[in-house]
Amino acid sequence: MNDLIDEIFRVFSEYGSEEYLGERVSMTEHMLQSASAAEQDSAPPQLVAAALLHDYGHFIHEFPADAAEHGIDTQHEEAAHAFLSEHFGPEIAEPIRMHVAAKRYLCATDPSYLGELSPASVHSLHLQGGPYSAEEVVEFEMSPYARDAVRLRRYDDMGKVEGLETPDLEHYRPVLEAAMRS
Ligand code: FE
Repeated sequence: MNDLIDEIFRVFSEYGSEEYLGERVSMTEHMLQSASAAEQDSAPPQLVAAALLHDYGHFIHEFPADAAEHGIDTQHEEAAHAFLSEHFGPEIAEPIRMHVAAKRYLCATDPSYLGELSPASVHSLHLQGGPYSAEEVVEFEMSPYARDAVRLRRYDDMGKVEGLETPDLEHYRPVLEAAMRS
């Protein structure tokens, strides 16, 4: 268990200082801020862990870092799910897999949501297929993880604040351990 967490943290330290796709924070800052938002919202450990790891796919997918600028959707949520579902339960892996879907869902169902998105997130929305249709909204809501995916999406959107102080990665080791055991 500790070996896996060490490996995850090593990947963070190797790739996490890269800019988070057009935002004013690094990848690691973004994911720490998302996890911190989940903690402050008293989310269960599985959801805090999901927030911390939700963009792990950006570290491990095989596309170049500037893929979005070239109009390519890297499907980072699928890369994260493929890796994380081997080690974590569906309460963690499924909201992560669905966090892009949750954006498309919220754009279709919450009139104010699109206006709150960062420019980079609006750009990727179009690569990811745009707002959901009415049928896709219904399909999304049928998933048992839809609510957690929407919560995760809100934490994701909050994690883009330049210079915001958060706990460091080690602070989340017990959370990841608890999430792995569950
Ligand atoms: Fe994110």
